[in-house]
Amino acid sequence: MDHADPETYRFDPYLAALSGNWYDEDELLRRWLARSGPSAAETAQVRELGRAAANRHRVIADRVERTENLPYLEAQDPYNRRRTEVVIPAATRELLGEVHGSGIWKAATDDRVRYAIVYLLNQNSEFGVTCSTACTDGLARILRRLDDDPRSRAVVAELESATPEAWVHGAQFVTEIQGGSDAATNALRAVPAPDGLYALHGRKWFCSNPSADYWLVTARLDGSPPGHRGVSLFCMPRARAGEPNGFVYQRLKEKLGTRALPTAEIDFAGALAWPVGRLDQGLKNMVAVVLTTSRVHCVLAAAAAVRRAAREARAYAGVRQAFGKRLDQHPLIADALERLSRAADRFAAGAFATVDAWTASAAEGANRDLRVWARILVSLAKAVSTRASSPHLYEAMMVLGGNGIEERFSALPRLWRDAPILESWEGPYTLLLMQALTDLARFDVAGRERELLAFGLGERSDPADADELARILRSPTDEESILRWGELAPRLYRRFEEKALAELRREAA
Ligand SMILES: Cc1cc2nc3c(=O)[nH]c(=O)nc-3n(C[C@H](O)[C@H](O)[C@H](O)COP(=O)(O)OP(=O)(O)OC[C@H]3O[C@@H](n4cnc5c(N)ncnc54)[C@H](O)[C@@H]3O)c2cc1C
Repeated sequence: MDHADPETYRFDPYLAALSGNWYDEDELLRRWLARSGPSAAETAQVRELGRAAANRHRVIADRVERTENLPYLEAQDPYNRRRTEVVIPAATRELLGEVHGSGIWKAATDDRVRYAIVYLLNQNSEFGVTCSTACTDGLARILRRLDDDPRSRAVVAELESATPEAWVHGAQFVTEIQGGSDAATNALRAVPAPDGLYALHGRKWFCSNPSADYWLVTARLDGSPPGHRGVSLFCMPRARAGEPNGFVYQRLKEKLGTRALPTAEIDFAGALAWPVGRLDQGLKNMVAVVLTTSRVHCVLAAAAAVRRAAREARAYAGVRQAFGKRLDQHPLIADALERLSRAADRFAAGAFATVDAWTASAAEGANRDLRVWARILVSLAKAVSTRASSPHLYEAMMVLGGNGIEERFSALPRLWRDAPILESWEGPYTLLLMQALTDLARFDVAGRERELLAFGLGERSDPADADELARILRSPTDEESILRWGELAPRLYRRFEEKALAELRREAA
């Protein structure tokens, strides 16, 4: 690479630097997994994924993102039936089978093994795979928790016994045209039908991964009270007896990012579904279990994107020459690389610790402080990390100069375009900050601010933050308090990341 002949100039060393093993190369990930004391087979599974992510998956992720390979809608079948299909690339289906058939959703799978795999998968920013992964995790969790219907238990059995050849996956549809954040305004109708089923009628406005086998759909029973208690949750098989189950894909969204993932507008016209959990608890369960699971996946995805960006920038700057020396020997570039590495470590440590708090809080015997802290933490982590990732992805892109802008040269344009989508999913930034503030007020943290922050942030908790939180919680609905919270919230999550990083660094891999 130190000559200027356009015929022979190659980027092979840059590509080689990306094609190692993203598990072996990631000391923090190895340290985190070591906390579980993984068996040799579990370590081998994650290591194999680390190799696949850096090689085959990376190549497929780049390929399916090309315009000519993007998912599309087949609007009418040749026999004049009003029947639409979403067509996704065969390579994406192959990866989906590999992931869903790997045992990742078995109840017995260790959570750190599961989320180490999710973190590695997300480093390729192939949301055709990772959106499906997040939704299927949520599907498995809610159907295990609310398993009073034999049809739910049958889906869980399918998830447990999945193989790369025979697997199923999930999707989740809440958002309607009148709003996603304020889901209590959901108006999709649910009408009682035979066999304890309900027929769904109406439109959902953003429906990602619509070729999934089972859809979790929120809908309102005729005559139900207004507000969130009137919104119920249903599980709907996409097909019945080999035919589409009473719905039509209207169109696919043309999106800034997550382009390899189809996102549809869907019209429901009598789709049959069974209720999941109590009818008046549907939205509550959807948020508490399914959307919270997806939020944790978003936190891992933001961390994975920053890790990939740091990796790309270092790989390129380590071989590219300018003015007679490698880019990484130029002080300002070296400084950018250092900043990127530090950010990747901080984001990863924060994401791993968020997973630990969330999974521990769901375990039997979790105390109240842990449950309250984990709930607030997931909102903060999702909001802050997805928003904070963009500048790092941008900086990495700039390290590659013009090649950083070329869509096919590196994953960086894709990572950067995907970042705002991650931030919007499952509750955008300001909504989640408000959710965290409402929870702080609702769970009586006022008067116990120091204790809660000491519990969550340990050595990094700062009495000045606790005093500020106390001022905010004195009148949490006042505009001034809300604005102060807007300043404090990202600072608290930053401290959490730093604490998590310090702890991981003290542990042996
Ligand atoms: C590519 C893509 C795929 C998607 N896939 C799905 C899917 O599969 N299933 C699904 O259900 N949804 C999906 N969504 C929808 C997504 O979850 C919503 O866009 C999101 O929840 C926000 O809803 P909204 O777009 O209606 O924005 P709005 O709710 O109208 O919010 C607009 C702005 O107002 C802010 N805001 C709203 N309420 C408050 C408040 N109380 N306090 C402070 N700020 C507030 C929000 O933070 C946001 O910044 C997808 C979206 C995208 C972009």
